Amino acid sequence: MDNKKKAVTQDKLVALCKSRGFIFPGSEIYGGFANTWDFGPVGVELKNNIKRSWWKRFVQESPDTYGIDAAILMNPRVWEASGHVASFGDPKMDCKNCKQRFRADTLIEAHSKGKVAAEAMTNEEMEKYIEEHDVKCPHCGVRNWTPIRKFNPMFVTSRGTLESDADKVYLRPETCQGEYVNFLNVQRTARAKVPFAIAQIGKSFRNEITPGNFLFRTVEFEQMELQRFCKESDSMDIYSEYKEKALKYIEDLGLKKENLRFHDHDKLAHYAKAACDIQFLFPMGWQELNGIHHRGTWDLSRHQEYSGKAMTYIDPFTGEKFIPNVIEYSIGADRLTFALMCEAYEEETLANGETRVVMHFHPAIAPYKVGILPLQKQQSEKAKEVYAKLSKKFMCDYDEAGSIGKRYRRQDEIGTPFCVTVDFDTLNDDTVTVRDRDSMEQIRLKIDELAAYIEKSLEF
Ligand code: ATP
Repeated sequence: MDNKKKAVTQDKLVALCKSRGFIFPGSEIYGGFANTWDFGPVGVELKNNIKRSWWKRFVQESPDTYGIDAAILMNPRVWEASGHVASFGDPKMDCKNCKQRFRADTLIEAHSKGKVAAEAMTNEEMEKYIEEHDVKCPHCGVRNWTPIRKFNPMFVTSRGTLESDADKVYLRPETCQGEYVNFLNVQRTARAKVPFAIAQIGKSFRNEITPGNFLFRTVEFEQMELQRFCKESDSMDIYSEYKEKALKYIEDLGLKKENLRFHDHDKLAHYAKAACDIQFLFPMGWQELNGIHHRGTWDLSRHQEYSGKAMTYIDPFTGEKFIPNVIEYSIGADRLTFALMCEAYEEETLANGETRVVMHFHPAIAPYKVGILPLQKQQSEKAKEVYAKLSKKFMCDYDEAGSIGKRYRRQDEIGTPFCVTVDFDTLNDDTVTVRDRDSMEQIRLKIDELAAYIEKSLEF
């Protein structure tokens, strides 16, 4: 897989996603709907497996982390407390020529291939950069921009029957507020002692305007994130610990070291003590994959102020009463899916001169763990028995259409780590051929040995 990443372009990946059932453009028969994507039968398995791997690592294997699933619609006061109603705004500019709207910071980051950290720039600095570097509209190629304006990306809807301001509710732009408002509930019911964390995976919504970088920035997306509540004196150590844990998780999933880097923020929110992203080398350059933020006591203090509930913790050993500091670790499930697809993609030239496309997913996240292929129609019945047996344990794909070579290629393209071929001999001795996706080597195994053999590879 060395250096194969270079071979993947966004266009190639989007085409593969569409042809193989990973991801389709949202509302496609109506001409699409900007920055929305629908996960197909193969893609939904991939994303679900990624979410499961995250939950396993950060909840199941972390005894002091508690999972929740909070409501998407929250009391609108939450968004006043969080500051989103008043100030959450992205720097937007419109192209006067084609009327498309873009985020100034992302235009600069795309133009500089991720070398310039636009989040640290003021609006004036961004406008100056765009002029001096002749940054043109990615849509029409002309440079004729409006000045930068702030634009609140929260989607607004209403509850009840009257559409008045009093009924206004927001689709959450981030999942973490669900953890903050449940801090007391979880601490009490789990009898949790600081430091502990609350985690969740769920949808967030942002009215994003983007130059169309596939799953990278969409208007609805899933976040996998946790908030660790701790004493101030431990907080910097915990912040550093999560930087390492976050990096290890994505490396273990298959992202290569050379395609990852830490990016410590120069400009911090007024309440933050430290902040960093891990960036990945996407086809369009270095971009944020996840964030780790030291948020101080800001979130719980604000909710204490706006709700009137004391968001305090009493240390059972010292009796000290305090509002905990928060370390946040947040990663987008869709953005990570995109990164893992980029990394997994390879166009391999075979000994016979043919090319195969293969997705080298870690078996734990591969959409299907095994493809079951009868060599000829006569073995279909036996192959269906194998399918019935293995599908009790993992997602299996059954395919009897076309030549065996073509069926192997299809499984390679959707990243199935093993193909089991049921042939004439199987009917006599209950053995099958098992083909490894990456090495293409084949071994012969008893049907009864298959489950354990595949299971071993799934460890994560
Ligand atoms: P960016 O600077 O890219 O807009 P952010 O700093 O606003 O991201 P956070 O609010 O910290 O991002 O969200 C945490 C994570 O959620 C991001 O690192 C990213 O993986 C994911 N994410 C954020 N916005 C989007 C989006 N519009 N589409 C897909 N994933 C997103």
